[in-house]
Amino acid sequence: MADEGRRWFEKRKDFTGSARTGGSDGPELFTKCPKCSATLFNEALHNNLRVCEPCGHHFRWSAVDRLSHMCAKGSIVVHDEELAPVDALGFVDSKPYTERIAASRRKTGRNDAFIAASAEVDGIDVEIGCFDFSYMGGSMGSVVGEKITRLYERAYERKVPAIVISASGGARMQEGVLSLMQMAKTCAALAKLRDEAHMPYISILTDPTTGGVAASFAMLGDLILAEPGALIGFAGPRVIRETIGEELPEGFQTSEYLLEHGLIDQIVPRHALLARIGDMLRHALGLPPRDVEARPRPRCLSEGADASGVSGAEAVEAPAS
Ligand SMILES: [Zn+2]
Repeated sequence: MADEGRRWFEKRKDFTGSARTGGSDGPELFTKCPKCSATLFNEALHNNLRVCEPCGHHFRWSAVDRLSHMCAKGSIVVHDEELAPVDALGFVDSKPYTERIAASRRKTGRNDAFIAASAEVDGIDVEIGCFDFSYMGGSMGSVVGEKITRLYERAYERKVPAIVISASGGARMQEGVLSLMQMAKTCAALAKLRDEAHMPYISILTDPTTGGVAASFAMLGDLILAEPGALIGFAGPRVIRETIGEELPEGFQTSEYLLEHGLIDQIVPRHALLARIGDMLRHALGLPPRDVEARPRPRCLSEGADASGVSGAEAVEAPAS
């Protein structure tokens, strides 16, 4: 089973981090930065972990590339990939839910919007998972909720820390109350991990983290980290503006605004995230700090699929935004 999971992950064509760019860039050679308008070579953007070199803008990043970057090469064992959503409510909006599932499966090659794995992160065994925003906006239905619950349960059984990287539009409308139930289910498993196994849980918020995901486990990290400039909130700014009939403060619902108001612990640029997580987990577990010499020198994805090398005390901070 373990080998099967590993093979599945490593044979995925986008695991090797070749010239793939992810997101909506498609086959284009260039991407224009929405913040500074710089024209960026897609390959260079990919190699820089999808961070704009001139201004530090963090583009959305695929789940597979994220996990490849975070986890030591060969350590990743993917779980529960066979779980697939069902249309229990016979839900139809502009098209049937079954059609949306089939289209998302064709687009991503995956059964649902979350990848869960056992892996080694900066030398520490963890249970880790990441949302795939390209699958129905990273929405959380029964399968996503079940995978996250099992992730916490595995962490409980193995007595290892848990890490969840969120990028989600929230609960999945097409599964109605079955989606909303996942908020309580995941949180119950998380409480057990914390109260009985006393293992740390790090929640990483990326752009965007909203709705039922923001309103449950994403905000319950022992440590809540966010990427710069991420949209984080329950309802989107447009809905709030129209509901209260007032203009919202500048930067409302960004990582920076939430940090200023005490909702998150730190904003960590993508290039520094891996080393920061390693340091914090060591501190939480009472382990000695990692010898900086033991960390591979920082490098970019193009230098090999073993992206765990992007780490360490020398990790380059993304340019200030
Ligand atoms: Zn830029």
